[in-house]
Amino acid sequence: MKKKGDVFLYHQYKEGWIEAISGCMFAGKTEELIRRIHVLSFAKKRIKVFKPQVDNRYSETEIVSHAGMHIPCLVVKEAKEILEYVDEDDEVIAIDEAQFFDEEIVDICEYLADLGKRVMIAGLDTDFRGEPFGVMPQLLTKAEFVSKLTAVCARCGAPATRTQRLVNGKPAAFDDPVIMIGAKDSYEPRCRHCHEVMDRPRHYSLKKHEKEE
Ligand code: ZN
Repeated sequence: MKKKGDVFLYHQYKEGWIEAISGCMFAGKTEELIRRIHVLSFAKKRIKVFKPQVDNRYSETEIVSHAGMHIPCLVVKEAKEILEYVDEDDEVIAIDEAQFFDEEIVDICEYLADLGKRVMIAGLDTDFRGEPFGVMPQLLTKAEFVSKLTAVCARCGAPATRTQRLVNGKPAAFDDPVIMIGAKDSYEPRCRHCHEVMDRPRHYSLKKHEKEE
């Protein structure tokens, strides 16, 4: 005999939460976000997709993964602009490149999740130095679900968790500006041990213990 509650067996959570997809560059974050959007659009969910405007030289209106998947999105200058586009009956709010948003994105994601919306964010958790990236630590803390994806280390093939920045082919320095005019920047995924940051300030050393006779 079927009870009414049975249908909800796999729905222990009330609608409305934040789920985060993080990791280094080339880990497939956007790909995973697009995959989830596809699944939910087959389920006829009302979805809005956003990304921040990082570069205003040209207007992009799609989120695009490295593997070439793409999906239309709304491009906004600042986090609170998202609220101008979200309707009451939207069920899913997807946000790509979340690391580039201003701090207000955290409260806005919380607000939307409290309203009962499924908020899906994807973003780089660390910058090229391996340091926390912008608002990502707060978003990862507030999220109910976190998927940390890895890429493949370009040096040794181990799971990669860091983004290696190369300026004119050499590892970037800790204090290098994010944008260096005239320099050729490139990025590749690396594991902790292959990730190189020149001039990283670090002042620890292990004590040498004398062996007692
Ligand atoms: Zn490696």
